[in-house]
Amino acid sequence: MSRLLFSGGTVVTADGSYRADVLVEDGRIFAIGANIDPEDAEVVDASGKLVMPGFIDGHTHMDMPFGGTMTADDWASGTAAAVAGGTTTIVDFSLQDVDGSLADAIETWRGKSEGKAITDYGYHVAITNLTDEIKAEIPSLPEKGVSSIKIFMAYKGTPLYTEDDDLFEAMQIARDAGVLVMVHAENGDVIAKLQQQALAQGNTAPRFHALTRPEEVEAEATNRAIQLAAIAGAPLLVVHVSCEAALEEVHRAHELGQTVYAETCPQYFAFSYDDLAREGFEGAKYVCSPPLRHEWNREALWRGLQIGDLQIFGSDHCAFNYHEQKELGRDDFTLIPNGLPGAEERAMALWKLGVSEGRLNENQFVAVLSTNQAKIHGMYPRKGALVPGADADVVLWDPELEITATAENRHGNVDYTPYEGMSFRGGPAAVYVRGGLVYRDGEVVGEHGSGQFVERSFEAPGLETRV
Ligand SMILES: [Zn+2]
Repeated sequence: MSRLLFSGGTVVTADGSYRADVLVEDGRIFAIGANIDPEDAEVVDASGKLVMPGFIDGHTHMDMPFGGTMTADDWASGTAAAVAGGTTTIVDFSLQDVDGSLADAIETWRGKSEGKAITDYGYHVAITNLTDEIKAEIPSLPEKGVSSIKIFMAYKGTPLYTEDDDLFEAMQIARDAGVLVMVHAENGDVIAKLQQQALAQGNTAPRFHALTRPEEVEAEATNRAIQLAAIAGAPLLVVHVSCEAALEEVHRAHELGQTVYAETCPQYFAFSYDDLAREGFEGAKYVCSPPLRHEWNREALWRGLQIGDLQIFGSDHCAFNYHEQKELGRDDFTLIPNGLPGAEERAMALWKLGVSEGRLNENQFVAVLSTNQAKIHGMYPRKGALVPGADADVVLWDPELEITATAENRHGNVDYTPYEGMSFRGGPAAVYVRGGLVYRDGEVVGEHGSGQFVERSFEAPGLETRV
């Protein structure tokens, strides 16, 4: 029996903060209270630190093919980056092969993650070809420990793109099967047309990525997905909400009492359209979808996080090297692989821009990074909570820790960081997965392959939204 005692810290949960010791036994939280007798436990001095439940990132893309290339981070480097940011569990998108089944996608992703992952992990299945056979397979996912599917309304002209009738039917099936439907909400038809027109006019630079995906394109698809889910009577998760117009659709659904979950991501707070419009081809480093927006959207996004219209903050970590990968689109912005690395910076960026600036408190910080993630992604209270019986996934957060991001000091495997030169104050001093130390003082010490698959089950949690 192994025992570990976090002593003298301040426990911070989604509900409140209080001084307490946390005793861990065999990888689980055993007790929380004042002045726990260490007996034979190994004592970790947590004084001056905030003791938080390990962060959960419900939105990562490790070792994933996109546009003829593969993401730069596999499960070894990607989960190293994650733990360096305080993340102890990820839920990654296992991508269906166009001719493959959903079960095949899960098996393929098992092969990518086993032996490499440092974090615990689960899978969503990202559907690329929603045939009748695939529809019939959706109800079999929960017994495999997979409780969510993702459907793309964007990327017309690729297999990812899904028509409304298929999306709608999948929602009906998922509703009955206890599976959560996640949508990438952008109007694929309009984007394809605008891209065609831009290229025909010789507009090939990275900033046209954003100009051909205006905010209305996201707002329209968000509204459509919400209405389809309302007709189907299905819960819905809109991922990576980037702008005020799309968020307004989510807000309206909440006013009407509809079960709509929504996620936003650090890049929409740390960067803007101006980064995409940087000189030369530099903007390619900032190409992701939905695209970076004008800064004036941020106030609405902060308010969304404050009142619970946006319940979760995921990284959408989807890393491509600048050299040879982003460069594929040097002469045509539509060929730039979409995505940014952000698993390592997610929590530090939210602390810097949200908590330090007085926009969120530390409890809201834990809610959107951990507790709400665990609830929506079907892992609560095993994950996302510091309560007896929960997995001892723990972050010792040091509000005084200072770090400046550079490509060299990142723990992933990407040849640049969009956060280059950005200074953070507040970050993880030490990180534990099921009681095992995986990160301390800037160094990843967790063993590759120590991460475990987490079986998830979705129960449509009601989350408080103050509309
Ligand atoms: Zn994504």
